[in-house]
Amino acid sequence: MLLRHTPKEIQERSAVTINPAKTCQPIGAMYAALGIHGCLPHSHGSQGCCAYHRSALTRHYKEPISAATSSFTEGSSVFGGQANLLQAINHSFTVYNPEVIAVHTTCLSETIGDDLKQIFDKATKEGIVPKGKTLIGASTPSYVGSHVTGFSNMVKAMADVAEEAGTGKRSGKINVIPGWVEPADMEEIKRLAKIIGVDITLFPDTSGVLNGPLSGEYQMFPKGGVTVAGLKATSRAIGTLALGEWCSADAARLLDTKHKVPCRVLDMPFGLKATDRFIDALRTIGGTTVPNEIAYERGQLVDLISDMHQYFYHKKVAIFGDPDQLIAMTEFLVSIDMWPVHIVTGTPGKRFEERIKELTKDIPVPVNVRQRGDMYLLHQWIKNDPVDLLIGNTYGKYIARDEDIPFIRWGFPILDRQGHQYFPTSGYRGGLLFLEKVLNALLDRKDRDSPEQKFELVL
Ligand code: SF4
Repeated sequence: MLLRHTPKEIQERSAVTINPAKTCQPIGAMYAALGIHGCLPHSHGSQGCCAYHRSALTRHYKEPISAATSSFTEGSSVFGGQANLLQAINHSFTVYNPEVIAVHTTCLSETIGDDLKQIFDKATKEGIVPKGKTLIGASTPSYVGSHVTGFSNMVKAMADVAEEAGTGKRSGKINVIPGWVEPADMEEIKRLAKIIGVDITLFPDTSGVLNGPLSGEYQMFPKGGVTVAGLKATSRAIGTLALGEWCSADAARLLDTKHKVPCRVLDMPFGLKATDRFIDALRTIGGTTVPNEIAYERGQLVDLISDMHQYFYHKKVAIFGDPDQLIAMTEFLVSIDMWPVHIVTGTPGKRFEERIKELTKDIPVPVNVRQRGDMYLLHQWIKNDPVDLLIGNTYGKYIARDEDIPFIRWGFPILDRQGHQYFPTSGYRGGLLFLEKVLNALLDRKDRDSPEQKFELVL
């Protein structure tokens, strides 16, 4: 009973968050930066901030995360961090030779008012940025938004690298912004596009960076990631698909307004319907047809859904995590006749509640949804209206244990399990993998709770 002090009675709170369902902006910015080939993320703040961001990512992805820091001391906290950042840029290019340094700010440097653009201009004028190397900067004050906001801000900064398209021909490529998903999801999106025959630029792209093979040799800059040349050319694409409003839309809209690359904002391709929409968008923008291979995979997912449907039917689910993921997951669960009844994100955004209400409007029982919510509220909702399944990141394990609910780890962070970075939720194949997890969780619980006379070999 780790959470034994959580009462069933709910009182409205406005000034206190208990067990937040979010973390700080720079963690998202650092994850996005790792999706650029040859990139050294840089945390413009204290060593403590950088250590926290790195350890949060290392614990989830089970890979060493390299990042530099401006290493603020009392002096830089008072007089500004420009001198530290200039010195760090110089050292990082000299010692580690990255292609790109992607700098994000922190609470402290934002409060001081450090201006990254001005510092970058100074670095260029002083000649400490070697020819052909790139600086990217994102403002990520952690006292607003969440890790999702930080991810979005860094992805927008990546889109800002795009060069003027000029009057030259369009490249024929499609920009795809996948949002904060596992490296395996990014791999799956690239695989689907390849089968359809559409040439895409995926950014960020952490596949091959955070789920690469063990080679026996440490590589500070693994093979994966979108290249700077790829980012520069995003302005000449024939379109951009942003997979999620919160993580990806700002970057897509920037390319649209600045370079006239038309953008469409879709949901993350989790489950049958959202994957259908993604495939259809690739097909229409790319001017191609959907090959049988894709239809075959889709048919497999439809088959599995129909086989498993009897076990899913009207099971109540509580889910928590980040808005783009939750919206796609809610649609997926509703489409297989499960009832997501408690849905919480810590990330702000009123449209989240509207979207979830729209997706769950046909569920004939009350549905609780909250943006800026916390795990304490989610626990109270579950106490008042118990569920059959809990889906979310590692922090859900305390609620799952106290309330004795089957629990599926999904989202960020997953700190107490391995392997998630190798298995996608995206696409039809990702759907198969996810549904197997759901069914196993439900039937394992049925087996555990069945009396001997009902402990069946065949279910
Ligand atoms: S001080 Fe701000 S940026 Fe640094 S770890 Fe804390 S919340 Fe994140």
